[in-house]
Amino acid sequence: MEKIDTKKLLIAETGAKQAAEISETLKGFDLPETVEGKRVIGRVVITKLDDSLLVKGDFVAGVILICDRCLENFKAHIPFRLERDYNIDRSQASAEELFVDKYGQIDLTEPIREEIILNIPLHNLCSEKCLGICQGCGVNLNNEKCCCKNKKRSN
Ligand SMILES: [Zn+2]
Ligand SMILES: [Zn+2]
Repeated sequence: MEKIDTKKLLIAETGAKQAAEISETLKGFDLPETVEGKRVIGRVVITKLDDSLLVKGDFVAGVILICDRCLENFKAHIPFRLERDYNIDRSQASAEELFVDKYGQIDLTEPIREEIILNIPLHNLCSEKCLGICQGCGVNLNNEKCCCKNKKRSN
């Protein structure tokens, strides 16, 4: 995704803030196989601290998930909050830490990816009323009537 230019903030005094709007496609994000990322939108506020830039933001990711009951794809929105520190001095950052790159830019790709994965619900239903799949004949009961004798729902 597009990096955020923080050059002006880096030379500002401690406590200075910068806001940025994010609207990016999630294509190319390394999400789990069961999740197709569409788009993430959000807004961050970046605060200059002594040794780092503190990035806080609220986002909504549009994704396509698989329903646990009927196994069909459905659209879902995943809201999440993000808060990360980016070291200003790259040489002070350990391998796991985030840092401002040599062009004075920060990259939110990895934090956004992490937060989307953390915020995907464990159980996903296309609808609370999803009827699931007939265990007898395998039809999707949302779309088709079952003709077999098994009236039991899959869930
Ligand atoms: Zn379903
Ligand atoms: Zn059936």
